[in-house]
Amino acid sequence: MSTPSPLPSGLSASRPAASHRAYVTLVTNADYAMGATALARSILLTGTQADITVLHTGGVDAAALEPLSALGCRLIRTELLDTSDAFNERHARGKLHANAPFTKGRKPAFHSPLDNFCKLRLWQLTDYESCVFIDADALVLRNIDKLFDYPEFSAAPNLYETLKDFHRLNSGVFVARPSVTTFSTMLGVLDQPDAFWRRTDQTFLETFFPDWHGLPVFMNMLQYVWFNLPDLWEWNQIGVLHYQYEKPWEEGHPRSVQLKPLIDLWHAYLDGKSIPDISLLPNPPGSKAG
Ligand code: UDP
Ligand code: MN
Repeated sequence: MSTPSPLPSGLSASRPAASHRAYVTLVTNADYAMGATALARSILLTGTQADITVLHTGGVDAAALEPLSALGCRLIRTELLDTSDAFNERHARGKLHANAPFTKGRKPAFHSPLDNFCKLRLWQLTDYESCVFIDADALVLRNIDKLFDYPEFSAAPNLYETLKDFHRLNSGVFVARPSVTTFSTMLGVLDQPDAFWRRTDQTFLETFFPDWHGLPVFMNMLQYVWFNLPDLWEWNQIGVLHYQYEKPWEEGHPRSVQLKPLIDLWHAYLDGKSIPDISLLPNPPGSKAG
């Protein structure tokens, strides 16, 4: 391992990097810190040697971070990007939801669209050679270390309703190489006068990396596939299960009955007790195999 470069100013780490590779997630409030706890436990169970690194802002209190420290995560304190007031206003929750309404699912009240852009700080983690970013609302169900060798920028399709979604990427899982040069180029493109990224970091990344590499859909299996495209479900192939839209820890959300088996699985990882054998889980109702 070559000598790692120090982290740029504005980022402070709980400990040095222990690997040249990291799974990275982002948490800006206690809800997503809880999400990251289930995620971190799931990653640990895959037997990876890579760091599990959590970017967190001042919006997360020490108590919410404690379970992540206990699991051995590397915590990196930072703040939201220093974007202009006009940019922040355009991407504030009320404004964004009014100008680019979500018609296919519902975002939880604790989700702030502006906070999503903080994912770009992954490119500042220059003490890693390769990173796999994973949203805090996801679980890793088997070892996916091979993703570290995929090129920048790799992501899976935003597939959850129809096959035409294959053209779009979902930014809940991606492979990238930290670089301060890339980071500063990104900031220049991001915050231009009148720039409006209707699906925040996802729209931005798709635009910034027009030649993105496609990962298999199983590397970011979106929970709505369970009921919209059940024939695609194959437990043994899923690397990452991603709870897009409603979160598994939101009680009684609009999809909670339909998604009960996936919600139960998430709670098993959060608690760390009785995690089932993934290969024995039943397929979704309505699937050919199920
Ligand atoms: N996030 C966060 N705080 C927020 C919004 C987002 O920490 O207020 C982070 C968190 O890692 C989350 C990711 O950004 O998983 C993207 O948001 P989310 O997963 O809710 O979006 P979805 O997958 O539903 O599109
Ligand atoms: Mn997500």
